[in-house]
Amino acid sequence: MKYCRLVAAVAALGIVSMSHAASPVLVIHGGAGVIKREMSPAREKAVRAALTQALKDGYAQLKAGKTAVDAVAAAITVLEDDPNFNAGKGSVFTHDGKNELDAAIMDGSTLEAGSVAGVHRVKNPILLARAVMEKSSHVMLVGEGAEEFAKSVGIELVDPAYFRTEERWQQLQKALKEDAEHARHSDVETAKHFGTVGAVALDAQGHLAAGTSTGGMNDKRWGRVGDSPIIGAGTYANSGCAVSGTGWGEFYMRTVAAHEICMRVTQMRVPLRRAAAEVINQEIPSMGGNGGAIALDSDGNVTMPFNTDGMYRGWIGADGVPHVAIYGDENDGAGEPLPAAADSTAQP
Ligand code: ASP
Repeated sequence: MKYCRLVAAVAALGIVSMSHAASPVLVIHGGAGVIKREMSPAREKAVRAALTQALKDGYAQLKAGKTAVDAVAAAITVLEDDPNFNAGKGSVFTHDGKNELDAAIMDGSTLEAGSVAGVHRVKNPILLARAVMEKSSHVMLVGEGAEEFAKSVGIELVDPAYFRTEERWQQLQKALKEDAEHARHSDVETAKHFGTVGAVALDAQGHLAAGTSTGGMNDKRWGRVGDSPIIGAGTYANSGCAVSGTGWGEFYMRTVAAHEICMRVTQMRVPLRRAAAEVINQEIPSMGGNGGAIALDSDGNVTMPFNTDGMYRGWIGADGVPHVAIYGDENDGAGEPLPAAADSTAQP
């Protein structure tokens, strides 16, 4: 008891930090698969501004002493509202010309999680996923039922036309034309156009959270659901690690990518950067998939690996300065990426 008081007193003086206290960190992505030659200066500027705003809004929550879940929800809401990303407004279209949105959130401190899939009218699917986590006894709700639940808990619903952007509509028309001509690009080509958004955060209590929101894949059909709302595949957090993925969802599901990264970190004690690189840069490409992820551990280490040309990404930590990057050859300040052939057997 005396010892505890002593530690608390020393901590109050700022000499040591209590074991549960942490310096807040927020990491975000706005999707992998960016192609430099397809980016206009205007779009690049808009994307960088949106990523910066998402970092600022999410970090403000952390600075105010709010939880990692609050920060993740705040950052993702900004990106869902911005039409430049494939989540919320600006989501890709299904084969049938609709928008079907998926999202998930997980609180690493409690292992509670909430997710939604195939919603058409929920303005901010991440807020509905959070409501599923906090206000229902379930983890995952889909389609009409999810929207019934949204109504019952006061989550904002919009006309489905709200999500439409001309650019996404044209992307669908292009894919449909290619379908019709049987001259469709290979799946890998089609799968390049991601844009999903995600966030992971560490709050001042040392708690982690992860969240992801997406319109899924352009031209998807038959009620296809990707990895983003699947806990463990595109989204996962525990007490030591938080991950949000973006990429060709089928491969993230088959590798249970987000959970796999976190298990390597918390059970096998593999350093975060190496664990994420093993799954994103080795395991997924070796099966034919592609994409990226953001990951954060309870020591505040950040990593943002991807095996595509670029990934919209950013992070903000103790100095409160947002760091934003898009391309693969751009320094994002989170350390050099590990080479794709990193030694998977390496120990810390
Ligand atoms: N992972 C998402 C999905 O497969 C797509 C993306 O990240 O852009 O639905």
